[in-house]
Amino acid sequence: MRPLALLGGTFDPIHNAHLRVAWEAAECLDAEVRLVPAPVPPHRAQPVASAEQRVALVRAALTGQERLVLDTRELRRAGPSYTVDTLAELRAEIGPQRPLVLLVGADAFAGLPSWHRWTELFSHAHIGVLTRPGHGGTLPTELRTRIASRRANHADALRTTPAGRVLAITVTPLEISATQVRSLLAAGREPRYLVPDALLAEPALLAPYRA
Ligand code: ATP
Repeated sequence: MRPLALLGGTFDPIHNAHLRVAWEAAECLDAEVRLVPAPVPPHRAQPVASAEQRVALVRAALTGQERLVLDTRELRRAGPSYTVDTLAELRAEIGPQRPLVLLVGADAFAGLPSWHRWTELFSHAHIGVLTRPGHGGTLPTELRTRIASRRANHADALRTTPAGRVLAITVTPLEISATQVRSLLAAGREPRYLVPDALLAEPALLAPYRA
């Protein structure tokens, strides 16, 4: 069955690496990929732009293609939004059989043990770990131990079971971060070619980050 995959994030703002790695994951897994902006990231500093502004940026970034889809479910939920709840909700919607894949960058994956009820993530979904430049180091011991028996060597393992495996997905190394895009904008510079042209075409979209 065609997997459903999601890439959560603050997307403060969305940039070309988000789009490209999500695209490559979609191809690697032959999956439908949803981008899921987080309104109140529980374990992160508060974003610069509001949830609505970040959603508008993601929406603009996704125009002109259909493979990557915006999913605003976390914005409709009251209180802090936890990935484990989002996965449980999606699992209830798609039924027990369809593969569900949580995509995370290598940096986010290394921090998994700080996530709310993180050990339950595997019962709802697979995890696809996207390579990211500068983030290939050793994993915390508790995470390494927890995933040792879950490692998959090929995307097929994620396509034939609904949840519970961990696959490293090698994507084009793109050293772009939202932090970098925010600093450029705050310094009065234009992040052209780091973000989709659509974000620059409408000045109001990136206004929250400009000095
Ligand atoms: P910030 O610089 O504000 O920390 P970010 O660029 O890491 O932001 P997020 O919105 O936090 O962007 O990222 C959402 C998801 O996309 C995370 O799982 C993150 O690891 C992944 N990601 C972001 N940028 C890259 C990249 N250049 N390569 C691979 N994965 C990435």
